[in-house]
Amino acid sequence: MTGLPTETDVIVVGAGVAGLSAASALRARGVEVVVLEAADHTGGRCVTDVTAVSQPFDKGASWLHSAQINPLARIGERMDVKFHKSPWVWQWVHAGGRALNHAEVEDYNTYQDTMWDVINQAGATQKDCAVASVLPDSPWRETAKHFVEQMQGGDADAVSIHDVAQYSDAEGDWLVAGGLGAFVQSLFADVPVHLACPVSKIDTSGPGVKAVTPKGTVSARGLVLTVSTGVLAAETISFTPALPVSKLQAVENLPMGLLNKIALDFDPSWTKAHQGQIADYHTSGDAYCTTIFGFYDTSVAVSFVAGRFADQLEEEGSGAATEFCLQGLSAVFGNDVRKHIRKTAETAWRSNPLTLGSYSYASPGGAKARRVLAEPVDNKLFFAGEATASDAYATVHGAFKSGQRAAREVLVQRDELEL
Ligand SMILES: Cc1cc2nc3c(=O)[nH]c(=O)nc-3n(C[C@H](O)[C@H](O)[C@H](O)COP(=O)(O)OP(=O)(O)OC[C@H]3O[C@@H](n4cnc5c(N)ncnc54)[C@H](O)[C@@H]3O)c2cc1C
Repeated sequence: MTGLPTETDVIVVGAGVAGLSAASALRARGVEVVVLEAADHTGGRCVTDVTAVSQPFDKGASWLHSAQINPLARIGERMDVKFHKSPWVWQWVHAGGRALNHAEVEDYNTYQDTMWDVINQAGATQKDCAVASVLPDSPWRETAKHFVEQMQGGDADAVSIHDVAQYSDAEGDWLVAGGLGAFVQSLFADVPVHLACPVSKIDTSGPGVKAVTPKGTVSARGLVLTVSTGVLAAETISFTPALPVSKLQAVENLPMGLLNKIALDFDPSWTKAHQGQIADYHTSGDAYCTTIFGFYDTSVAVSFVAGRFADQLEEEGSGAATEFCLQGLSAVFGNDVRKHIRKTAETAWRSNPLTLGSYSYASPGGAKARRVLAEPVDNKLFFAGEATASDAYATVHGAFKSGQRAAREVLVQRDELEL
């Protein structure tokens, strides 16, 4: 990549899926774009680690959710990408100090579907409140609550039912062979990106917009900002003039939830016996993990911890989340399970200064904040990123669609100026 230019048409801040999608759409229409990315890689929260364990490990996103209506799934199909379309069915649940029997596990699986139906129905018809207050009664209520935490990142008592209801869900959760991060990188390989180029200041006080970085200042007619609400809330980027109060309130209403992943590299004998199975472990309160064996039909299992409990484990330090998952697997399968694990790796998304969490959720009363966050300021500052995608927040396709939406807004504005 050549040095940083001093002027361009449009600056894109962030080379995650939203930024890459916006840049790609603008470039396709002949707009000159400079993409500024703080990290040393593209993809943002889509990042495949090929060295941590013996198989590619997506440290961030791994599924193309709602595959039936997911534009990236259509693109992947056209590119002949190999997908793994495993169903979400639990075989093992250890809760309240005991393993559930077969009939109970079936009940547990059914409860999840009922639970989402009830939340969605309440979200569409009732005054906004926290998900926890509408969860249907069941012996599995406390254990199954963690599905909310894994999908939303926030705890059930902190997440808005209106936000859940505005998400458009559809059939299909597809894993991408070789990793979703690698897929994203290949998809946008032709978009030039200035890596290790963090933006510290955005100035819209003059006729255009300026982005200040340690490598120099770039001026443009417009800027598409795609950083997470965690980064916006931390104010690591300063704005002149300050962002409107409505924007700051929107950021406050869309805190970053936490999902951390633990990769467990099993030996082949174990993998063969448990391929595709899912196990849950719940001790008490918020302490849960879910483990899925044979990700992408490989030897690697991936465990998930979410919400406040994930924050607690991350604060305890490296290895704490892995140890909790191993404790869970030992409870389900016996202590011998540890002998079958060759290598482990874990993520710490809260501590990542470039995201400060995993994905956004809306606090009760805050679901409309996604639309407010998406609104352009002054016709030169445009916003994209998963948090702005009301019907697909916290996802890769939501980020993708938000980038395309922001690119359309830039183009409309440009056409109007040129009329
Ligand atoms: C553990 C985990 C699991 C997930 N699982 C799934 C899943 O299975 N399926 C799914 O659909 N979604 C999943 N998601 C969510 C999905 O990854 C995100 O919604 C999506 O990738 C967000 O893309 P984005 O472009 O909006 O933001 P980002 O990917 O965060 O991109 C923003 C970019 O801005 C950069 N940046 C930050 N500050 C600055 C600065 N000052 N200057 C310049 N650049 C800056 C960042 O480095 C980043 O690259 C998961 C996320 C996590 C963390």
